[in-house]
Amino acid sequence: MLDIVIAGGLAVLPSGPEKADIGVERDKIAVIGAPGSLAALGAQRTVDAAGQLVIPGGIDPHVHCRWPMPVPGQTQHNMTDGPDRVSQAALFGGTTTILDFALVDGDNTVQQAIERRQKEWAGDCHCDYAFHTMVQGKLDPSVPDQLAESIRAGYPTVKMFTTDITPSRKGRMVQFGDIWEVLKVLAREGGVAAIHAEDNDIVMHMYEKLTREGRTGFENLAEVHNTLSEDLAFNRVIRLAANIEGCALYMLHTSAATGVRAIAAARANGVPIYGETLHQYLMYTAEDYKRPNGQIYHTYPSLKFAEDHAALWAGTDHGAIQTVATDEICCPLKYKLQGRRIDDTTGGNAGVEPRVSLIYTETVEKRGRSLENFVGLVSTNAAKIMGLYPRKGALAVGSDADIVVLDTRQRHTVRAAEMHEADYSPWEGRDLACWPSMTLLRGKIVVEGGVLKGDLKDGQFLPRKIPEAVRAHPVV
Ligand SMILES: [Zn+2]
Ligand SMILES: [Zn+2]
Repeated sequence: MLDIVIAGGLAVLPSGPEKADIGVERDKIAVIGAPGSLAALGAQRTVDAAGQLVIPGGIDPHVHCRWPMPVPGQTQHNMTDGPDRVSQAALFGGTTTILDFALVDGDNTVQQAIERRQKEWAGDCHCDYAFHTMVQGKLDPSVPDQLAESIRAGYPTVKMFTTDITPSRKGRMVQFGDIWEVLKVLAREGGVAAIHAEDNDIVMHMYEKLTREGRTGFENLAEVHNTLSEDLAFNRVIRLAANIEGCALYMLHTSAATGVRAIAAARANGVPIYGETLHQYLMYTAEDYKRPNGQIYHTYPSLKFAEDHAALWAGTDHGAIQTVATDEICCPLKYKLQGRRIDDTTGGNAGVEPRVSLIYTETVEKRGRSLENFVGLVSTNAAKIMGLYPRKGALAVGSDADIVVLDTRQRHTVRAAEMHEADYSPWEGRDLACWPSMTLLRGKIVVEGGVLKGDLKDGQFLPRKIPEAVRAHPVV
């Protein structure tokens, strides 16, 4: 007797889409068969998914929960919403796993930073989760050894900045020599470097120049965090990695054609490098900064231009871009609008809830892309790169029963007021081609018909290990 059968839907399996019944036993997918073939086994509950799409739960590889947000002109911080809120929104939208960051700050060791983050999240997250570590500023010489230990303990991805981002945020940038040392450890111990790559000289030069010229409004952000900066920084990091045997890269929030080209060229040379872009980089440009509340479309680096759009979209079609993340910063509109200048505008976006349906609409419906392409971008590729596959990111026997039934029979309009995230959405009013009718997390129905069910805050931490193949060649 099975616990649940998701019957008759068009299931996006690792082998491709087919009409199938998916049988769930406890927390795993136990059996997959032709429609009707599981009836003999019996089930506590059979969900009729006929006419709907069935996909593995979404994975957002880049979110920031309970994260300090600088307040313009002040030393204190506001905190963004915590995992309780963000993970709930994630489940409503069909995302069952989120990856956040354990920031190593002050005198903390990497291990202390992880311990603190684990405590903050324990019992407070509705979906499953994992952490990247993040090191910043001048690194203590003991940090590479600490990272070796954390990589082996299930935290194989390390975020580093090549820039301070804004003149007021000094202390983010990691010196290139220190990045070199960390990359060597990642290569040796089985990790992947997650790089926020911008050319600090160019970015800070542009801050000085625009400040001198009195053009400090945020609508000029694309001139500061510009395409040349992405070109220089991506290529510099790639050259560094290419000099380290076994060094793999994950380029965070790729925003420009120059970044796409840098990743594509490296992949063509066999460098194990993967590209992430963000939902809003695919759909908005620097022109959107001029709209009312234009800050709501912004994340650092910055929105770019039409040609960057075109390159990013081309890159998502089995090219340089493997994942579409949100860079989630969940906060009220009043916080998001606090900064108005090029040097104090709040980064990050609300969007974890509509992400899956939005990317379906943009890929499958608008661009005629395959269902595998869509599922790859919102789930499977992140699972593979981040070391969660096939436990996550697959509708396969033995995988966690993280299953989303996407109702493609009726359209859905994005309304922040009807969602569970922030009091605004950069996607307000968007017409989507689908919306989840049901989300399962490890075999439990957690959202059904727009209602949260099941055990609350039952999210589990996921220790990760990245397969050697992913770190040896660009396999996704
Ligand atoms: Zn970043
Ligand atoms: Zn981020």
